[in-house]
Amino acid sequence: MACDIPLDPVTKLAIFFAAKTADEHESKLVRPAHLLVALAGSDTSLAKKLMKAGLTEAGLRKELGRIKPTKAGERPHLHRSGIGYDLHRLAEGRKLTLGGIVVPFEKGPVGHSDGDALAHAICDALLGAAGLGDIGAHFPDTDPKWKSVSSLLFLEHTRKLLDQRSLRIIHIDAVVILERPKLGPHFPAMRAALAKSLGIEPEQINLKAKTNEGVGEIGRGEAIASHAIATLEA
Ligand code: MG
Repeated sequence: MACDIPLDPVTKLAIFFAAKTADEHESKLVRPAHLLVALAGSDTSLAKKLMKAGLTEAGLRKELGRIKPTKAGERPHLHRSGIGYDLHRLAEGRKLTLGGIVVPFEKGPVGHSDGDALAHAICDALLGAAGLGDIGAHFPDTDPKWKSVSSLLFLEHTRKLLDQRSLRIIHIDAVVILERPKLGPHFPAMRAALAKSLGIEPEQINLKAKTNEGVGEIGRGEAIASHAIATLEA
């Protein structure tokens, strides 16, 4: 008998990988072990919790018990995405604050707050996904309250706005465009700082860096830009 089972995108992905895993192990049947392996690969946050729980049946049941059951007639979980972009001019003698940390460099962003282009792009992506406008509406650069403050405060405030609306952050992906310095070695510290402010795991944040191949203001080292996309669950 055919029937429609409502699956969220991560579950769909897990089932796809479970079939692939079964295939790789020359099994004609998708077995529970294949599903577990696929789940661990598709939902790293859940996998981490399961590892902590010892992957015992009792541990699994305890973790499953934390998932709120969907009541009859209740709307299934909805996913919402938001996009964010920011650019700041760079000037000598300013701290290069990015992703909530200070990266050693001779130039830094010019801005009303600390000019953290990555945090600002993420903030806009989250506000966009929540349908709450943009960073300028919540933290106007004309308000002296926000002068020289850490942009992590913007993220902490945004987190509260999401909590009030029962919106949960699933994942954030971001790219920083900057000619110099190399950012890769600083990403673990940035992900930790951003995740702490947002109350999520660092594994839920993916960061990437690009140069602008020497082209334009960013290529000449005169500016830094960042793009971010955030996915929320309602
Ligand atoms: Mg900005």
